[in-house]
Amino acid sequence: RVFPFTLFGSVVIFLLVTRLLSRRRSISKDLQMAIRQHEFYLDYQPILDIETQRCIGAEALLRWRRNGEVIAPDIFIPLAESNGVMTLLTDEVFRLAARDMSKVMQDSEDFYLSINLSGHDLTVPGLTERLRHMLEAFGLAGDRFMLEVTESSFVDNEHSRELIREVRRLGFKVAIDDFGTGFSNFAYLQRYEFDFLKLDRLFVETISVDDVRSNLVFHLIELAEKLNVQVIAEGVEESEQAVKLLEKGVSRAQGWLYGRPCRARRFIRDFCKPAAPLTV
Ligand code: C2E
Ligand code: MG
Ligand code: MG
Ligand code: MG
Repeated sequence: RVFPFTLFGSVVIFLLVTRLLSRRRSISKDLQMAIRQHEFYLDYQPILDIETQRCIGAEALLRWRRNGEVIAPDIFIPLAESNGVMTLLTDEVFRLAARDMSKVMQDSEDFYLSINLSGHDLTVPGLTERLRHMLEAFGLAGDRFMLEVTESSFVDNEHSRELIREVRRLGFKVAIDDFGTGFSNFAYLQRYEFDFLKLDRLFVETISVDDVRSNLVFHLIELAEKLNVQVIAEGVEESEQAVKLLEKGVSRAQGWLYGRPCRARRFIRDFCKPAAPLTV
């Protein structure tokens, strides 16, 4: 009685598993092919000094152009992570960034480039070596870069702690990204050597609408400062938000108010104006 049922069950499970595996293989092949065929590119979004309105850096944001349609990173990054292609993709990001931005960075001394790492990147051995190679490709020092790690993808263990120490020894600044969407774990800020905290858009959004919750945000900012972590506000869309953030001591911001992510050429044209000559 039980036998035919179990046999049927096994066949169904077998079919499901093979289907899943072949789907996985095909996504992984698609992504590798897409890298080879240069379907990925980077958009750059300016990061500004709120007070002077000067562009002090850029965040590189990955895009996939596939059959004329642009696919957002929130869609393909998880696919790349679960299909073993994330390392290749992160290397492609560094390659693209070097191609687009090394000249800008060599020309302006205090401009930095921010690059997103996925949680998966932190678990793969050899990241420090790959970063060293990237610096050689740019011909630049590590302190011209910031590495962003999202709070939710961050695995809290000794390996991550050591890795962050290592990349900081190479000069990289390290930021915890999307702070506020994960556990907003302040213990992280004490235990890890983060230089920056990127306050998530969801937090920034509350500033102009809700007094109680914006007070909470302001307390977070104070706490971060006490822990020697500088705050960058993400997703600033209204000038009122910028004014309030500045009042609370946040001096760096990013968002549509200042500029949307755009292609390198346009970014350089619009945001990397040469410094005005000093007139006496
Ligand atoms: P993120 O690092 O937090 O990047 C900020 C996201 O907010 C970007 O979305 C950006 O376009 C968007 N944004 C910026 N300003 C505003 C604003 O004022 N209003 C609104 N509504 N949105 C704003 P995007 O480009 O779709 O990237 C989504 C996420 O994908 C990123 O979040 C990052 O976690 C991930 N990602 C992007 N590029 C890469 C990459 O090269 N490697 C890895 N591992 N992850 C990446
Ligand atoms: Mg980011
Ligand atoms: Mg973010
Ligand atoms: Mg995000």
